[in-house]
Amino acid sequence: MNIPDIQSPSVASSFDVQRIRASFPNLHREVHGNPLVYLDNAATAQKPQLVIDRLNRYYSRENSNVHRGVHTLSQEATDAYEGARERIRAFINASSNHEVIYTRGTTEAINLVASTFGRKHLSAGDEILISTMEHHSNIVPWQMLCEEKGATLRVIPISKAGEIEYDAFLSMLSERTKIVAICHISNTLGTINPLDRMIADAHRYGATVVVDGAQAVPHMRVDVQALDVDFYCFSSHKMFGPTGIGILYGKESLLEAMPPYQGGGDMIDTVSFEKTTYNTLPHKFEAGTPHIAGGIGLGAAVEYMESIGLETIAEYERDLLAYGTEQLRSIEGVRIIGTASQKASVLSFLIGDIHPYDTGTILDRLGIAVRTGHHCTQPLMDHWGLPGTARASLAFYNTREDIDALVAGIRKVKTFFE
Ligand code: PMP
Repeated sequence: MNIPDIQSPSVASSFDVQRIRASFPNLHREVHGNPLVYLDNAATAQKPQLVIDRLNRYYSRENSNVHRGVHTLSQEATDAYEGARERIRAFINASSNHEVIYTRGTTEAINLVASTFGRKHLSAGDEILISTMEHHSNIVPWQMLCEEKGATLRVIPISKAGEIEYDAFLSMLSERTKIVAICHISNTLGTINPLDRMIADAHRYGATVVVDGAQAVPHMRVDVQALDVDFYCFSSHKMFGPTGIGILYGKESLLEAMPPYQGGGDMIDTVSFEKTTYNTLPHKFEAGTPHIAGGIGLGAAVEYMESIGLETIAEYERDLLAYGTEQLRSIEGVRIIGTASQKASVLSFLIGDIHPYDTGTILDRLGIAVRTGHHCTQPLMDHWGLPGTARASLAFYNTREDIDALVAGIRKVKTFFE
């Protein structure tokens, strides 16, 4: 496929964080009279100028519906939208564009699998395994499916550090296990789950593995073929692209055998009042006019990340996380929640018995954006009897100075409660 040229402002070929920061306009604003320190990347990431410009260009120069038109604008929009799909395919190393389905995000991608694959393959007595650390998006769709089918949802326990209890996982696998649904990286703890092993072990029992990759794709190289994962879901807005768009990767053989998700335009081949036949992949799962600008913007975000290099990003963030962990540990009364040996990008913490909401509110007055609460992992909080946490989550545009500002902020929070 001919990928249309995307206007590229110069992106650092070697990692230069100040140069990278210069590409993110929103990082340079003030909050309550202080320079913004943005540490809420697990909720959503800021957008580089390249992505903003690409959206602007689509709406100002190319706006048209895709797939249906012979006219020039429609063909340009289709080329850009399908070109982005090709970029995304290469980014995750899917073997074909047929395996890359545009969705609204991780949540919709998981719901798609539950509603189509799940409904088709699950029966009473079957089991779905999830873990204690899952986001609500990777709990509720499976609960709904189990309720409908009379299947059982089982929860893999985790250790105090926030790691999968692997022996327990192995002992829970059986012929009844039809689906294992697991996050690649926990949004609350930062734990990187041992997917290679988990997928191989689940496959030995014939289970299908669905991975919630929302927190992984922005931080590390993901190769869906190397993982041998069946379904992998992620969201554009956490990887520097627009909101309202994301991806479901699925193995072609599985997607082929699945019924469609929603009915409507684009997902059909022929329609008569008697019978409808469905379009080929990936369009079979993409009913209606899609988020065209979103897909194109996500393609630009992928281009941006690739221009820095996923390995470079991962290495830089590993160093930053180590620095942040050390700094937070040095503050008396601070407890880090989530201390897995394999961890990425997330620092959840509590300061003594100060409520995380108070921590977040005071930090905000200082211009420091962290998230507070249960982070859509209520069962995990209940499991540990926590009211929630304050969470600083990192991206490659964060710096040691951001961590220093957070540390100074935490010390300030403490003075309010002395
Ligand atoms: N899973 C995880 C691990 C997440 O962090 C999030 C977003 N917080 C989601 C799923 C849901 O993503 P979205 O809201 O973009 O669908």
